Amino acid sequence: MENRSKIAIIGSGISGIAAAKQLRKHNPVVFEATGCIGGVWKHCAFRTTKLQTPRCDYEFSDFPWAERDNSSFPSNMEILEYLHQYATHFDVLKFVEFDSKVVEIRFIGDRRKSEEYGSLLSGQPVWEVGVQKTGSETVQWHAFEFVVICVGKYGDIPMIPKFPQSKGPEVFKGKVLHTLDYCKMNQEETTELLKGKKVVIFGFKKSAIDLAYECALENQGPEGQTCTMVIRTPRWTVPHYSVWGLPFYMFYSTRAAQFLHERPNQGFFRSLICTALSPMRKMASKIVESYLTWVLPLEKYGLKPDHPFEEDYASCQMPILPEDFFSEADKGKIDFKRASKWGFYEGGVELDDGRRLEADVVVLATGFDGKQKLNAMIPDPFRSLLEFPSGMMPLYKGTINPLIPNMAFVGFIESVSNLHTAEIRCKWLSRLADDKFKLPSIEKMLGDTVEEIDIMKRTTRFYKRSCISTFSINHTDEICEEMGWKAWRKSNWLAEAFSPYNSQDYADKED
Ligand SMILES: Cc1cc2nc3c(=O)[nH]c(=O)nc-3n(C[C@H](O)[C@H](O)[C@H](O)COP(=O)(O)OP(=O)(O)OC[C@H]3O[C@@H](n4cnc5c(N)ncnc54)[C@H](O)[C@@H]3O)c2cc1C
Repeated sequence: MENRSKIAIIGSGISGIAAAKQLRKHNPVVFEATGCIGGVWKHCAFRTTKLQTPRCDYEFSDFPWAERDNSSFPSNMEILEYLHQYATHFDVLKFVEFDSKVVEIRFIGDRRKSEEYGSLLSGQPVWEVGVQKTGSETVQWHAFEFVVICVGKYGDIPMIPKFPQSKGPEVFKGKVLHTLDYCKMNQEETTELLKGKKVVIFGFKKSAIDLAYECALENQGPEGQTCTMVIRTPRWTVPHYSVWGLPFYMFYSTRAAQFLHERPNQGFFRSLICTALSPMRKMASKIVESYLTWVLPLEKYGLKPDHPFEEDYASCQMPILPEDFFSEADKGKIDFKRASKWGFYEGGVELDDGRRLEADVVVLATGFDGKQKLNAMIPDPFRSLLEFPSGMMPLYKGTINPLIPNMAFVGFIESVSNLHTAEIRCKWLSRLADDKFKLPSIEKMLGDTVEEIDIMKRTTRFYKRSCISTFSINHTDEICEEMGWKAWRKSNWLAEAFSPYNSQDYADKED
């Protein structure tokens, strides 16, 4: 057993690198299962995958993008390069142990019941982390006082739908794969997979849309085949960040816009105001919907969602379309079919209404099983507390499970810019580790998380995605207040009310 550092960080994607930077004075050890940093941007992206958040929102507060005013969305390779530059600039790569997968964690602390959460760095080891090096059978154990889990919600473990008996992939004569398999292919392999093939894609989220687009690009010309997307729930998709000539942020990302939305700890009178303002909230959603229905052929292709736009926004699901996605549909290269259930037959896919789609290749763009990653690592009884009491992860300030001592989770409760939310929470964690402030009682923290989850539940039917995008400014206000920072950070009230907040507003001026 080795004990070199007090803090372990598991994962070196955006969240893990943000945590390593903010906790660097403690010389943390970052265990990374693969041979490189970047997480999903390295292992879960396609040739055409781009960031969907505007560049200036997906930026570390002390490390601006070289071309931060460039309005184009950076590619996954550009994001990786930006992250590398950041990690190199702040010299955090030296903390990362590559090819080191955490396979198990054991609790070795004192679990006598207390009303308080306790200090993150108490001088006593609390967790043992079991690490397996790539290609080795041996598990090495390391003891730590504090563990930060940054293993991500996406990638690593595919979510495979359940199929009725004798209608699973085994009856299909063609090839079935998940987007995760597709990400591992090089360009030659993807061309061979898609070119001239009848491809069916299940799903209509970001990966499904990007894949259908790549499939269309491979099938140009008269010999090209059509790629068919099978869609259960259409989502509101967005071509760019402007609505009827107004910047998109005006609808959801300013204090004035978020004033219309519920937020945790808002009190009785604010609840009343929120109820009174709900018609305005609905109107904002309708304005966006009317624009999207006007500018995109959603009705033509039967893709107009049945739910309000706000519900997709509030669940952090708002795919940005590749520029000429619908031009490819107009050319007949992408087709859309709605179905709530499906299965395979020998020659392709059978939908719930009996329609059959011939296929050579079927790609499941059905998402990832992020929970399984945590369940595999976290020991009992803490595993059963991961989603206690409401069936969703109760994370105080998006980071601390009040019932799991000396462990933090970064990257699990999302927002429009996951980089920004990860960074500000890691700043908060670093000050908490330094005992610059104390956490409230466990009861109060649990109460806050339950309230936050209730708001998500009231705002969107897709609440299980754990997203705070409709009250993100308030969420960060509370983090600032706890750190002893000023929450309102603009230079005048006009900017405070009507300009968007991004990472730059939270640069460490107070340090
Ligand atoms: C296609 C796609 C597009 C996206 N677009 C956007 C966007 O536009 N804007 C936005 O804000 N967010 C977007 N996201 C969400 C994205 O996941 C986050 O922005 C962010 O990159 C997540 O970083 P992370 O570090 O939390 O997780 P990840 O990137 O998943 O990194 C987790 C890391 O942990 C490692 N790991 C996992 N298990 C272990 C283990 N047991 N031991 C050691 N290491 C382990 C993994 O190898 C990985 O390196 C997108 C996601 C995807 C998949």
